[in-house]
Parts: sequence; structure tokens; C-alpha cells
Amino acid sequence: MNGKSIHPNISRERLVEVAAGQNPIAAILGCADSRVPVELLFDTGLGDLFVVRSAGNTAFTAAIGSLEYAVSHLGVSLIIVLGHERCGAVTAALDLSAHLTPSLSKVVGQVRMELMAAGAMDDLDKACRINALRSAQSLADSSVLITDRLRQGRLEIETAYYDLDTAEIDWLGAVKPTALN
Ligand SMILES: [Zn+2]
Repeated sequence: MNGKSIHPNISRERLVEVAAGQNPIAAILGCADSRVPVELLFDTGLGDLFVVRSAGNTAFTAAIGSLEYAVSHLGVSLIIVLGHERCGAVTAALDLSAHLTPSLSKVVGQVRMELMAAGAMDDLDKACRINALRSAQSLADSSVLITDRLRQGRLEIETAYYDLDTAEIDWLGAVKPTALN
């Protein structure tokens, strides 16, 4: 936030160390937006974070499968779903007249459905936060493996919101499987 980065774990030694195996400290489901490069935002290096990104940080099937891998094979016990300010996918979801290709409308349609269900179609900033929370909730409910780990207290899913103007991160809270809420 003050413009100073440590740039840890990017040495040749680190490269050699993680080439033999990875042990990331957390997994992140983030947006594909070029202004939200997760490893840079958290000032991390090689082997530190297991990152899945897609437009609108949606919990789509390949993302859920990738995160299941991080949890079951790499021992990750923290997943962060990271939404952000002025997200293009959320902006498109709020614009009912947007012309989208079939594949893009699947992504945007999922975001729109969640926002409509949450009654958050009128305010972009609020919608970006709600989208991150809904995506995290969907992740908590869509995978037997992830749901079980959450129940057992072996996994935590936290939701966060990144401010493009200040680089601040708002922590929006942890999610639990719906059945436990
Ligand atoms: Zn975005």
C-alpha cells in the first residue's frame, strides 16, 4: 500500500527449492482483471500462492476442481475469494442490454443470477462485494470435499475486496456451508 515491496521468494534458490515440490500458504480465487495480479498484490513469490483466476472470480467447475486439488493434494487450509472494485464482469452483469458471446454470457449470467438473488442489481460497488461473497458461498456448497473440510475445521474460506484506487483490501468475512449457517 505504501509502494514498497519486499519481493520475497523469487531467487534462483527458491526456484530450485519449489521445482521439487510446492507447499503454498493459501489458494486464491481471483478475477482475471489485469489490475488485480494476485501474487503482486500480496507481495509473494514462487510457490507461495495457488491462484485460480477468471472474469468475475466465479466458482465455475474448473475453478472448483483446481481448488479441490490445492486442498486435497497440496494441504492448503485457507482459500481467499478476492473480488475487486469496478469489476468488468459485474458491470456487464448489471447491464441487461450488454451484447455477449455465448461463452461470455455463461460467465456473466452466473454473476447476474447471484446478484439478482441477492437483490444487488442497483449499485456496482455493492454488487462487486456481493459477487465475491456469493462466489465464496457457492464454493463452500458446491464440493463435497470442500464442504467436509470446512465442517471439520480443517479449511477456511475468507472473502475479500480489493480497492483499485488505494490498494486496500477489505476483509468481508468467512463463509460456512449453507447447511451450517
Ligand atoms: Zn473483475
